[in-house]
Amino acid sequence: MLLFYSPIHFDVGLKQNSSHNTVVPDSKSFPAASPPRAWAEINLSHLGHNLSVVNTQQQGSVMAVLKAGAYGHGIEKIAVALEALPNELSPAFFGVASVIEARRLAHADIRTRIYLLGPTCPFEREEIVAYGWTPCISSMEEAADFDQIVGREHHDNKLKVHLTVDTGMGRGGFLPSDLISHQEKLNELTHLDIEGIGSHLPCADEDEAFTRAQFDEFDALVETLGADNFRYIHLSNSAGILAYQSRYTNLQRPGLMLYGISPLPTKQDQLKPALSLKSKVSLVRNLPAGQGISYGRDTILQHETRVATVGIGYGDGYPRSMPPHQSDVLISGKRCPLLGRVTMDQIMVDVTSLPDCKSGDEVELFGENILVSEIAQLANTIPWAVLTGITPRVTRIYRPQS
Ligand SMILES: *Cc1c(COP(=O)(O)O)cnc(C)c1O
Repeated sequence: MLLFYSPIHFDVGLKQNSSHNTVVPDSKSFPAASPPRAWAEINLSHLGHNLSVVNTQQQGSVMAVLKAGAYGHGIEKIAVALEALPNELSPAFFGVASVIEARRLAHADIRTRIYLLGPTCPFEREEIVAYGWTPCISSMEEAADFDQIVGREHHDNKLKVHLTVDTGMGRGGFLPSDLISHQEKLNELTHLDIEGIGSHLPCADEDEAFTRAQFDEFDALVETLGADNFRYIHLSNSAGILAYQSRYTNLQRPGLMLYGISPLPTKQDQLKPALSLKSKVSLVRNLPAGQGISYGRDTILQHETRVATVGIGYGDGYPRSMPPHQSDVLISGKRCPLLGRVTMDQIMVDVTSLPDCKSGDEVELFGENILVSEIAQLANTIPWAVLTGITPRVTRIYRPQS
């Protein structure tokens, strides 16, 4: 049996229901939507600035890394904003993690070339070929399969692909020696246009000696394969862009730094964080000494304290592991320490230093004043994870508005 849903009639507007003495909707008017309690403000004008920093560090073009919903910033909005930049800043590629992300960009009428950052599964390849997205090839089997699909379905065209080489990440790519021995066979795949070669850095923000050796190995491999055979040669993520130089690379793949966060603290000053996570105070009370705060009652007030409850929690992506007393939020320009454990929807902070603090006041959890890097370190995680952990219920608000 089929179930048909009749249009739902919401009675809207508020009136007092006399029998139950509760506020119930009224059909005459719909109340204005209240502003969100937890939101991410995204300053799109900072993207162009951060890309200009890429250009001052490195020659060549840019692949803007937009995986994971543009690191929580919203993939379509960020893609559209990047396409609107002046030509010298507009990226040559958008890097995504999966065909789902590629499809979202395609459906948003994005014209910039789309590059898939990891190995592909066999069941994804027909769609990749049909849309003309650019895969990075990790193995002879993957290359041969793409070649065969293009030959079968679109024999007049060639699919542009990049080769990826594993110089230390252990996540994908040909081993350097395998790539050299397969070079001839790869060139026989007539339906592929092998226009690029890339590799990835596992510890450009942690191990300088290893990373220098990796650049040397990559450059030597490119030299052996013939740098002139590739239009695009790429190796660097944000940390690589900020701290290393290659003899051959001409395409950079910034992720974190595009959003204004440096993986290297000494380079942070040049960048402008694009995202601020904000919320509002919902309640302010003076609580007496001896009062416990939050689950587990780890925090017991030592003296009378002005305590603000704030409408954000781990259900919004503010990390549950934030340590009380050591972590701060910003209210009216002042740092206020976290009290007790982060709960799903609310946190408590000490606002004794803000006698005028009241319900409705704005709170910055992180952004331009408190860096997401500080939050990540306190939470024992990394800024990438905090940004991509902002959940869907957090409203994204874009400035300047488009
Ligand atoms: C995620 C990713 C990047 C971007 O890294 P950041 O450290 O955020 O700049 C670059 N290249 C590849 C292959 C990636 O997976």
